Amino acid sequence: MNCLFCKIIAGDIPSAKVYEDELVYAFRDIAPQAPTHILVVPKAHMDSCNAVTAENSAVVARIFEVIPQIAAAEGLTNGYRVVSNCGEDAGQTVPHLHFHILGGKKLALEMA
Ligand code: 5GP
Ligand code: ZN
Repeated sequence: MNCLFCKIIAGDIPSAKVYEDELVYAFRDIAPQAPTHILVVPKAHMDSCNAVTAENSAVVARIFEVIPQIAAAEGLTNGYRVVSNCGEDAGQTVPHLHFHILGGKKLALEMA
């Protein structure tokens, strides 16, 4: 297993855990781009959004159930952004599907 986020999920690399259940792990981004910057990942490795199928998409539904719970726990009552970079043109640097939760300030609107 040579995947950074798989190692974080396994506890082999330390992380600041925010949430965990049997399917999902969430932790603070090591280089935060906003006052709150959390990564939410499936525990089972998949490379990116491109790897989501009818067989494994339940974890994505779980992730989107968990995101508002995390946002509420973090006090993001005025809104937040959810981002998943898929592939090189999007700037994906870690090839394990992850969703960024960004908030705690008025975020810039640029999307590209
Ligand atoms: P991407 O660029 O692939 O969308 O997002 C990868 C994110 O992982 C980046 O925001 C980066 O700061 C974060 N990251 C990279 N390595 C580590 C690490 O070892 N620990 C944590 N907590 N975050 C990391
Ligand atoms: Zn992985």
